[in-house]
Amino acid sequence: MPDFEIIEPQFRSFVLKNAPLKRLATGFDWAEGPVWFGDAGCLLFSDIPGNRIMRWIPEAGLSVYRQPSNYANGHTRDLQGRLISCEHGTRRVTRTEADGAITVLADGIEGKRFNSPNDVVVKSDGTIWFTDPHYGIRSNYEGYKAEQELPCRVYRIDPDTGGVAVVAEDFDCPNGLAFSPDESRIYIAESGHAFDVKADKRIRVFDVDADNTLGTGRDFHKVAPGHCDGMRCDIKGNIWTSAADGVHCLNPEGVLLGKIFVPETVSNLCFGGRAKHILYITATTSLYAIVLNREGAQMP
Ligand code: MG
Repeated sequence: MPDFEIIEPQFRSFVLKNAPLKRLATGFDWAEGPVWFGDAGCLLFSDIPGNRIMRWIPEAGLSVYRQPSNYANGHTRDLQGRLISCEHGTRRVTRTEADGAITVLADGIEGKRFNSPNDVVVKSDGTIWFTDPHYGIRSNYEGYKAEQELPCRVYRIDPDTGGVAVVAEDFDCPNGLAFSPDESRIYIAESGHAFDVKADKRIRVFDVDADNTLGTGRDFHKVAPGHCDGMRCDIKGNIWTSAADGVHCLNPEGVLLGKIFVPETVSNLCFGGRAKHILYITATTSLYAIVLNREGAQMP
């Protein structure tokens, strides 16, 4: 069986017939939050229940980057290239400085603690956008079981003032998020209450206004099988999303163009490699990679 399925003809030029999906490493409990560090030549990703952040160096293999990780989940980088992390265990968003020191960017609002920050992106103006569903406090598996103090919202941090603003709050558990390459839009996954198997799971899209508020949202796409946990855009604005059977590629109109099959349920993905042409995929117990004829759009 090939590692991909072409649904719309244009997807044929996105994949390479001879480039296999490779399982790079395995043995994790729930791999998540991949982020590429081109300057350091490595990929970081979370093993959330394992309470650790792993480091994959293509030439040298796997090592532990940080343990304990406070049950870290999603990661990204800021405009200075520093690691920005969502932590379930401490219910906060942090920045790792160049010297390794950890700075808390935000851990609550309105005098209450966040639920369990899940995934995070940085806009080109430096603002940090993250989702705060309750998955990390519903049990002791991916954090510490606790009472929910705040609704499941999307937030924005201003790194200059440290201020935290509510971006969206009509969500049944927001999850992965990604800006379109021109940042005129933001895609936000809605993955549903932790114990509601019938939750209405979908990707929603919002216009981003000049003052960083969101316009009226609309349904963008329903991933099937499974749902979107994490996603990234390529430089042409196509959206690559996690799914139960692999990675799905959507065009900016929300049309499914094709799939890359992965033998485990995918949680998240990111582009990496010297030309951001390698898709790194975290999928349940393993880390996978496949070379594409595409380039990722994420910064830096
Ligand atoms: Mg997630």
